[in-house]
Amino acid sequence: MKILVLNSGSSSIKFQLIDTQTHQVLAKGVAERIGIKGSRIKYNRPNQPEVHFEGDILDHQIAIEYILTILKSEEYGVVKDLKEIEAVGHRVVHGGEKFKQSVLITDEVIKQIEIVSDLAPLHNPANLKGIYAISALLPQVPQVAVFDTAFHQTMPKHSYMYAIPYSLYNLYKIRRYGFHGTSHKYVSHKAAEFLNVPYEKQKIISLHLGNGASAAAIKFGESVDTSMGMTPLEGLIMGTRSGDLDVGAFVYILRKEQITPQVGSILLNKHSGVLGISGISPDMREIEQAAADGNERAKLALDMYAYRVKKYIGAYTAAMNGLDILIFTGGIGENSVLIRKMVCDELSYLGIKLDYDKNQQAIGKQAIISSDDSQVKVLVIPTNEELMIALDTEKIVSNN
Ligand code: ADP
Repeated sequence: MKILVLNSGSSSIKFQLIDTQTHQVLAKGVAERIGIKGSRIKYNRPNQPEVHFEGDILDHQIAIEYILTILKSEEYGVVKDLKEIEAVGHRVVHGGEKFKQSVLITDEVIKQIEIVSDLAPLHNPANLKGIYAISALLPQVPQVAVFDTAFHQTMPKHSYMYAIPYSLYNLYKIRRYGFHGTSHKYVSHKAAEFLNVPYEKQKIISLHLGNGASAAAIKFGESVDTSMGMTPLEGLIMGTRSGDLDVGAFVYILRKEQITPQVGSILLNKHSGVLGISGISPDMREIEQAAADGNERAKLALDMYAYRVKKYIGAYTAAMNGLDILIFTGGIGENSVLIRKMVCDELSYLGIKLDYDKNQQAIGKQAIISSDDSQVKVLVIPTNEELMIALDTEKIVSNN
Protein backbone atom coordinates (compact mmCIF):
# COMPACT_ATOMS: atom_id res chain seq x y z
CA MET A 1 0.00 0.00 0.00
CA LYS A 2 1.29 3.50 -0.84
CA ILE A 3 0.71 5.75 2.14
CA LEU A 4 1.35 9.47 2.44
CA VAL A 5 2.63 10.36 5.91
CA LEU A 6 2.23 13.98 7.00
CA ASN A 7 3.77 15.77 9.96
CA SER A 8 2.18 19.22 9.91
CA GLY A 9 3.74 21.96 12.01
CA SER A 10 2.74 25.59 12.40
CA SER A 11 4.76 26.77 9.38
CA SER A 12 6.06 23.53 7.87
CA ILE A 13 4.82 20.16 6.63
CA LYS A 14 7.13 17.15 6.47
CA PHE A 15 5.96 14.41 4.14
CA GLN A 16 6.95 10.91 3.06
CA LEU A 17 5.31 8.62 0.55
CA ILE A 18 5.94 5.09 1.82
CA ASP A 19 5.35 1.71 0.21
CA THR A 20 4.32 -0.39 3.21
CA GLN A 21 5.05 -3.64 1.41
CA THR A 22 8.72 -2.90 0.84
CA HIS A 23 9.06 -0.28 3.63
CA GLN A 24 10.64 1.89 0.93
CA VAL A 25 10.38 5.68 0.98
CA LEU A 26 9.33 6.56 -2.59
CA ALA A 27 9.66 10.31 -2.03
CA LYS A 28 9.97 12.67 0.89
CA GLY A 29 10.45 16.32 1.67
CA VAL A 30 9.34 19.35 3.56
CA ALA A 31 7.28 22.44 2.79
CA GLU A 32 8.90 25.27 4.73
CA ARG A 33 7.96 28.82 5.73
CA ILE A 34 4.25 28.32 5.00
CA GLY A 35 2.54 31.71 5.19
CA ILE A 36 5.94 33.44 5.51
CA LYS A 37 8.01 35.15 2.82
CA GLY A 38 10.46 32.80 1.12
CA SER A 39 8.39 29.62 1.29
CA ARG A 40 9.63 26.56 -0.57
CA ILE A 41 9.42 22.80 -0.88
CA LYS A 42 12.51 20.61 -0.55
CA TYR A 43 11.95 17.32 -2.34
CA ASN A 44 13.93 14.06 -2.35
CA ARG A 45 13.71 10.75 -4.14
CA PRO A 46 16.08 7.80 -3.66
CA ASN A 47 19.35 8.23 -5.59
CA GLN A 48 18.29 11.61 -6.98
CA PRO A 49 19.60 15.06 -6.08
CA GLU A 50 17.41 17.19 -3.82
CA VAL A 51 15.10 19.55 -5.73
CA HIS A 52 13.86 22.91 -4.38
CA PHE A 53 10.58 24.47 -5.49
CA GLU A 54 10.30 28.14 -4.59
CA GLY A 55 7.02 30.06 -4.58
CA ASP A 56 4.39 31.59 -2.34
CA ILE A 57 2.71 29.03 -0.11
CA LEU A 58 0.03 30.89 1.77
CA ASP A 59 -1.46 28.09 3.83
CA HIS A 60 -1.34 24.36 4.59
CA GLN A 61 -3.87 23.43 1.92
CA ILE A 62 -1.86 25.18 -0.78
CA ALA A 63 1.28 23.44 0.49
CA ILE A 64 -0.31 19.99 0.30
CA GLU A 65 -1.82 20.73 -3.13
CA TYR A 66 1.69 21.66 -4.26
CA ILE A 67 3.17 18.48 -2.74
CA LEU A 68 0.54 16.31 -4.48
CA THR A 69 1.24 18.05 -7.78
CA ILE A 70 4.95 17.27 -7.45
CA LEU A 71 4.27 13.64 -6.46
CA LYS A 72 2.33 13.01 -9.67
CA SER A 73 4.29 15.34 -11.98
CA GLU A 74 5.87 13.93 -15.11
CA GLU A 75 9.38 15.13 -14.30
CA TYR A 76 9.62 14.55 -10.55
CA GLY A 77 6.66 12.34 -9.79
CA VAL A 78 6.60 8.87 -8.24
CA VAL A 79 2.93 8.05 -8.94
CA LYS A 80 1.03 8.19 -12.22
CA ASP A 81 -2.27 8.96 -10.58
CA LEU A 82 -3.07 10.28 -7.09
CA LYS A 83 -5.45 7.31 -6.77
CA GLU A 84 -2.32 5.25 -6.08
CA ILE A 85 -2.16 6.97 -2.66
CA GLU A 86 -4.46 4.67 -0.74
CA ALA A 87 -4.37 6.37 2.64
CA VAL A 88 -2.88 9.31 4.53
CA GLY A 89 -1.38 8.95 8.02
CA HIS A 90 -1.05 12.07 10.16
CA ARG A 91 1.20 12.60 13.13
CA VAL A 92 -0.94 14.18 15.85
CA VAL A 93 0.95 15.32 18.92
CA HIS A 94 -1.67 15.11 21.68
CA GLY A 95 -4.45 12.57 21.98
CA GLY A 96 -5.24 13.37 25.63
CA GLU A 97 -6.94 10.52 27.48
CA LYS A 98 -9.32 10.00 24.60
CA PHE A 99 -6.99 8.25 22.17
CA LYS A 100 -5.24 5.11 23.34
CA GLN A 101 -4.26 4.05 19.83
CA SER A 102 -4.22 5.26 16.25
CA VAL A 103 -7.69 5.84 14.74
CA LEU A 104 -9.44 6.26 11.42
CA ILE A 105 -10.29 9.95 11.08
CA THR A 106 -14.02 10.73 11.09
CA ASP A 107 -15.90 13.97 11.82
CA GLU A 108 -16.26 12.79 15.41
CA VAL A 109 -12.51 12.12 15.72
CA ILE A 110 -11.74 15.59 14.33
CA LYS A 111 -14.07 17.09 16.95
CA GLN A 112 -12.27 15.17 19.71
CA ILE A 113 -8.82 16.27 18.46
CA GLU A 114 -10.09 19.86 18.46
CA ILE A 115 -11.20 19.46 22.09
CA VAL A 116 -7.83 17.98 23.11
CA SER A 117 -6.01 20.86 21.34
CA ASP A 118 -6.24 22.89 24.53
CA LEU A 119 -3.53 20.58 25.96
CA ALA A 120 -1.15 21.18 23.01
CA PRO A 121 -2.05 24.61 21.60
CA LEU A 122 1.18 24.88 19.60
CA HIS A 123 0.91 21.48 17.91
CA ASN A 124 -2.59 20.02 17.53
CA PRO A 125 -4.09 22.96 15.60
CA ALA A 126 -1.26 22.62 13.05
CA ASN A 127 -1.79 18.86 12.80
CA LEU A 128 -5.49 19.52 12.20
CA LYS A 129 -4.69 21.88 9.33
CA GLY A 130 -3.08 18.93 7.51
CA ILE A 131 -6.19 16.81 8.13
CA TYR A 132 -8.56 19.54 6.88
CA ALA A 133 -6.42 20.01 3.76
CA ILE A 134 -6.47 16.31 2.83
CA SER A 135 -10.23 16.18 3.48
CA ALA A 136 -10.61 18.98 0.93
CA LEU A 137 -8.08 17.74 -1.63
CA LEU A 138 -8.47 13.95 -1.45
CA PRO A 139 -11.97 13.51 0.01
CA GLN A 140 -12.18 9.80 -0.91
CA VAL A 141 -8.90 8.81 0.72
CA PRO A 142 -9.06 7.40 4.25
CA GLN A 143 -7.01 9.24 6.86
CA VAL A 144 -5.57 7.95 10.11
CA ALA A 145 -4.36 9.89 13.15
CA VAL A 146 -1.30 8.52 14.96
CA PHE A 147 -0.76 10.17 18.35
CA ASP A 148 2.57 10.84 20.13
CA THR A 149 0.80 10.22 23.43
CA ALA A 150 -1.16 7.03 22.60
CA PHE A 151 1.56 4.46 23.39
CA HIS A 152 1.85 5.81 26.95
CA GLN A 153 -1.86 5.52 27.70
CA THR A 154 -1.11 2.15 29.33
CA MET A 155 0.73 3.92 32.19
CA PRO A 156 -0.79 3.06 35.57
CA LYS A 157 -2.40 5.86 37.51
CA HIS A 158 0.34 5.97 40.15
CA SER A 159 2.87 6.90 37.45
CA TYR A 160 0.78 9.40 35.48
CA MET A 161 -0.76 11.40 38.34
CA TYR A 162 0.89 14.50 39.82
CA ALA A 163 0.70 14.89 43.59
CA ILE A 164 -1.41 18.04 43.42
CA PRO A 165 -5.07 18.51 44.45
CA TYR A 166 -7.03 15.75 42.75
CA SER A 167 -9.69 18.24 41.73
CA LEU A 168 -7.24 19.68 39.17
CA TYR A 169 -7.15 16.32 37.45
CA ASN A 170 -10.93 16.15 37.42
CA LEU A 171 -11.29 19.72 36.22
CA TYR A 172 -8.54 20.04 33.63
CA LYS A 173 -7.05 16.56 33.16
CA ILE A 174 -3.73 17.73 34.60
CA ARG A 175 -1.59 14.58 34.49
CA ARG A 176 1.42 13.11 32.77
CA TYR A 177 0.80 11.98 29.17
CA GLY A 178 4.27 11.47 27.69
CA PHE A 179 5.34 11.99 24.07
CA HIS A 180 7.60 10.33 21.46
CA GLY A 181 5.23 7.34 21.80
CA THR A 182 5.48 6.41 18.13
CA SER A 183 9.27 6.26 18.40
CA HIS A 184 9.34 4.30 21.68
CA LYS A 185 6.84 1.83 20.24
CA TYR A 186 8.80 1.40 17.01
CA VAL A 187 12.25 0.94 18.52
CA SER A 188 11.08 -1.36 21.33
CA HIS A 189 9.34 -3.68 18.85
CA LYS A 190 12.34 -3.51 16.54
CA ALA A 191 14.71 -4.39 19.41
CA ALA A 192 12.75 -7.50 20.38
CA GLU A 193 12.57 -8.53 16.73
CA PHE A 194 16.33 -7.94 16.29
CA LEU A 195 17.18 -10.04 19.36
CA ASN A 196 14.56 -12.62 18.41
CA VAL A 197 12.89 -12.54 21.85
CA PRO A 198 9.16 -12.25 22.67
CA TYR A 199 8.22 -8.56 23.05
CA GLU A 200 5.59 -9.27 25.72
CA LYS A 201 8.17 -10.83 28.03
CA GLN A 202 10.79 -8.05 28.05
CA LYS A 203 11.56 -5.23 30.44
CA ILE A 204 12.80 -2.45 28.18
CA ILE A 205 14.06 1.09 28.68
CA SER A 206 13.99 3.12 25.51
CA LEU A 207 15.98 6.36 25.39
CA HIS A 208 14.92 8.75 22.62
CA LEU A 209 17.69 11.35 22.64
CA GLY A 210 17.16 13.95 19.90
CA ASN A 211 16.54 17.68 20.14
CA GLY A 212 13.71 16.66 22.41
CA ALA A 213 14.49 13.70 24.67
CA SER A 214 12.54 11.18 26.68
CA ALA A 215 12.94 7.82 28.37
CA ALA A 216 10.24 5.17 28.49
CA ALA A 217 9.85 2.11 30.71
CA ILE A 218 8.18 -0.64 28.69
CA LYS A 219 7.22 -3.66 30.75
CA PHE A 220 5.87 -6.75 29.00
CA GLY A 221 4.89 -4.78 25.90
CA GLU A 222 3.29 -1.80 27.62
CA SER A 223 4.59 1.64 28.50
CA VAL A 224 4.47 1.89 32.31
CA ASP A 225 6.30 5.19 32.72
CA THR A 226 7.90 7.90 30.65
CA SER A 227 9.88 11.01 31.46
CA MET A 228 7.91 13.70 29.58
CA GLY A 229 4.81 14.81 31.41
CA MET A 230 1.75 16.88 30.69
CA THR A 231 3.98 18.78 28.28
CA PRO A 232 7.31 17.82 26.67
CA LEU A 233 9.18 19.96 29.23
CA GLU A 234 9.50 17.38 32.00
CA GLY A 235 12.21 14.76 32.42
CA LEU A 236 15.55 14.56 30.66
CA ILE A 237 17.74 17.55 29.82
CA MET A 238 17.18 18.46 26.16
CA GLY A 239 18.70 20.75 23.54
CA THR A 240 16.85 23.82 24.78
CA ARG A 241 14.49 22.46 27.48
CA SER A 242 15.37 22.22 31.15
CA GLY A 243 13.68 18.89 31.88
CA ASP A 244 12.91 18.31 35.58
CA LEU A 245 13.01 21.50 37.64
CA ASP A 246 11.75 22.56 41.05
CA VAL A 247 8.59 24.57 40.38
CA GLY A 248 9.60 26.67 43.40
CA ALA A 249 12.69 27.74 41.46
CA PHE A 250 10.49 28.70 38.51
CA VAL A 251 8.29 30.91 40.67
CA TYR A 252 11.40 32.50 42.19
CA ILE A 253 12.83 33.23 38.70
CA LEU A 254 9.55 34.89 37.65
CA ARG A 255 9.69 37.14 40.72
CA LYS A 256 13.37 38.01 40.45
CA GLU A 257 13.39 38.61 36.69
CA GLN A 258 9.93 40.23 36.81
CA ILE A 259 8.71 38.20 33.86
CA THR A 260 5.31 36.70 33.11
CA PRO A 261 4.72 32.91 33.25
CA GLN A 262 4.51 32.95 29.44
CA VAL A 263 7.98 34.49 29.16
CA GLY A 264 9.19 32.09 31.86
CA SER A 265 7.86 29.19 29.80
CA ILE A 266 9.87 30.38 26.79
CA LEU A 267 12.94 30.58 29.06
CA LEU A 268 12.53 26.93 30.10
CA ASN A 269 11.55 25.59 26.66
CA LYS A 270 13.82 27.55 24.33
CA HIS A 271 16.78 28.90 26.30
CA SER A 272 17.54 26.16 28.81
CA GLY A 273 18.85 22.60 28.60
CA VAL A 274 22.18 22.00 26.88
CA LEU A 275 22.06 25.49 25.34
CA GLY A 276 21.32 27.18 28.66
CA ILE A 277 24.05 25.38 30.61
CA SER A 278 26.77 25.62 27.96
CA GLY A 279 25.88 29.05 26.56
CA ILE A 280 27.20 27.64 23.29
CA SER A 281 24.61 25.64 21.36
CA PRO A 282 21.75 23.14 21.71
CA ASP A 283 23.55 20.91 19.19
CA MET A 284 25.27 17.97 20.85
CA ARG A 285 28.01 17.77 18.19
CA GLU A 286 29.10 21.34 18.96
CA ILE A 287 28.99 20.65 22.71
CA GLU A 288 31.14 17.54 22.36
CA GLN A 289 33.64 19.53 20.28
CA ALA A 290 33.71 22.43 22.75
CA ALA A 291 34.21 20.02 25.67
CA ALA A 292 37.08 18.33 23.80
CA ASP A 293 38.60 21.79 23.34
CA GLY A 294 38.49 22.28 27.10
CA ASN A 295 35.36 24.40 27.54
CA GLU A 296 34.25 23.84 31.15
CA ARG A 297 30.58 24.66 30.69
CA ALA A 298 30.32 22.34 27.69
CA LYS A 299 31.83 19.60 29.90
CA LEU A 300 29.31 20.43 32.62
CA ALA A 301 26.45 20.20 30.07
CA LEU A 302 27.64 16.74 29.01
CA ASP A 303 28.00 15.56 32.62
CA MET A 304 24.56 16.85 33.58
CA TYR A 305 22.97 15.42 30.45
CA ALA A 306 24.37 11.91 30.97
CA TYR A 307 23.75 11.97 34.73
CA ARG A 308 20.05 12.75 34.24
CA VAL A 309 19.67 9.87 31.78
CA LYS A 310 21.48 7.56 34.22
CA LYS A 311 19.10 8.53 37.04
CA TYR A 312 16.10 7.65 34.88
CA ILE A 313 17.62 4.28 33.98
CA GLY A 314 17.97 3.55 37.70
CA ALA A 315 14.43 4.72 38.44
CA TYR A 316 12.85 2.72 35.62
CA THR A 317 14.81 -0.43 36.43
CA ALA A 318 13.37 -0.15 39.94
CA ALA A 319 9.89 0.59 38.55
CA MET A 320 10.00 -2.61 36.46
CA ASN A 321 11.92 -4.69 39.02
CA GLY A 322 14.59 -5.43 36.43
CA LEU A 323 15.84 -4.69 32.96
CA ASP A 324 16.46 -6.82 29.87
CA ILE A 325 17.01 -4.33 27.04
CA LEU A 326 18.30 -0.75 26.96
CA ILE A 327 17.76 1.11 23.67
CA PHE A 328 19.42 4.27 22.37
CA THR A 329 17.68 6.16 19.58
CA GLY A 330 17.19 9.72 18.21
CA GLY A 331 19.99 11.82 16.68
CA ILE A 332 22.13 11.70 19.85
CA GLY A 333 21.25 8.13 20.85
CA GLU A 334 21.99 6.82 17.36
CA ASN A 335 25.21 8.76 16.78
CA SER A 336 26.92 9.87 19.96
CA VAL A 337 29.48 7.29 21.04
CA LEU A 338 30.49 9.58 23.91
CA ILE A 339 27.02 10.10 25.41
CA ARG A 340 26.27 6.37 25.23
CA LYS A 341 29.53 5.64 27.04
CA MET A 342 28.93 8.30 29.69
CA VAL A 343 25.41 6.99 30.31
CA CYS A 344 26.37 3.31 30.51
CA ASP A 345 29.63 3.59 32.46
CA GLU A 346 29.33 2.54 36.09
CA LEU A 347 25.99 0.88 35.67
CA SER A 348 27.46 -2.59 36.13
CA TYR A 349 25.40 -3.16 39.28
CA LEU A 350 22.35 -3.10 36.99
CA GLY A 351 23.96 -5.63 34.67
CA ILE A 352 24.87 -3.08 32.00
CA LYS A 353 28.29 -3.61 30.38
CA LEU A 354 29.23 -1.77 27.22
CA ASP A 355 31.57 -3.17 24.57
CA TYR A 356 33.63 -0.09 23.69
CA ASP A 357 34.58 -1.31 20.21
CA LYS A 358 31.00 -2.15 19.29
CA ASN A 359 29.88 1.20 20.69
CA GLN A 360 32.51 2.97 18.60
CA GLN A 361 31.34 1.29 15.43
CA ALA A 362 27.59 1.72 15.94
CA ILE A 363 26.95 5.07 14.33
CA GLY A 364 23.50 5.58 12.86
CA LYS A 365 22.85 1.88 12.46
CA GLN A 366 21.14 -0.96 14.26
CA ALA A 367 23.60 -2.77 16.52
CA ILE A 368 24.19 -4.46 19.85
CA ILE A 369 26.74 -2.43 21.81
CA SER A 370 26.84 -4.39 25.07
CA SER A 371 29.52 -6.98 25.75
CA ASP A 372 28.66 -10.65 25.32
CA ASP A 373 28.52 -11.18 29.10
CA SER A 374 26.35 -8.13 29.78
CA GLN A 375 23.13 -9.17 31.52
CA VAL A 376 21.27 -6.31 29.86
CA LYS A 377 21.39 -6.08 26.07
CA VAL A 378 22.24 -2.52 25.06
CA LEU A 379 21.11 -1.63 21.54
CA VAL A 380 21.26 1.21 19.06
CA ILE A 381 18.05 1.25 17.00
CA PRO A 382 17.54 4.07 14.49
CA THR A 383 14.00 5.36 14.94
CA ASN A 384 11.56 5.60 12.06
CA GLU A 385 8.41 7.34 13.18
CA GLU A 386 7.17 7.83 9.60
CA LEU A 387 7.31 4.10 8.86
CA MET A 388 5.51 3.37 12.13
CA ILE A 389 2.79 5.86 11.15
CA ALA A 390 2.51 4.27 7.69
CA LEU A 391 2.25 0.74 9.14
CA ASP A 392 -0.37 1.78 11.72
CA THR A 393 -2.30 3.55 8.96
CA GLU A 394 -2.23 0.48 6.74
CA LYS A 395 -3.42 -1.75 9.58
CA ILE A 396 -6.33 0.52 10.44
CA VAL A 397 -7.40 1.15 6.85
CA SER A 398 -7.25 -2.59 6.04
CA ASN A 399 -9.45 -3.42 9.05
CA ASN A 400 -12.15 -0.91 8.13
P1 ADP B 1 14.81 15.85 16.33
O1 ADP B 1 14.50 15.55 17.76
O2 ADP B 1 14.59 17.28 15.95
O3 ADP B 1 14.25 14.83 15.35
P2 ADP B 1 17.32 14.49 15.98
O4 ADP B 1 16.75 13.21 16.48
O5 ADP B 1 17.80 14.55 14.59
O6 ADP B 1 16.39 15.72 16.24
O7 ADP B 1 18.56 14.84 16.95
C1 ADP B 1 19.29 16.01 16.82
C2 ADP B 1 20.46 15.94 17.79
O8 ADP B 1 21.31 14.84 17.43
C3 ADP B 1 21.33 17.19 17.78
O9 ADP B 1 21.66 17.57 19.10
C4 ADP B 1 22.59 16.71 17.07
O10 ADP B 1 23.73 17.39 17.49
C5 ADP B 1 22.64 15.27 17.53
N1 ADP B 1 23.57 14.49 16.70
C6 ADP B 1 23.46 14.15 15.41
N2 ADP B 1 24.57 13.50 14.98
C7 ADP B 1 25.41 13.44 16.05
C8 ADP B 1 26.71 12.90 16.28
N3 ADP B 1 27.39 12.29 15.31
N4 ADP B 1 27.25 13.03 17.50
C9 ADP B 1 26.59 13.66 18.48
N5 ADP B 1 25.36 14.18 18.34
C10 ADP B 1 24.78 14.08 17.15
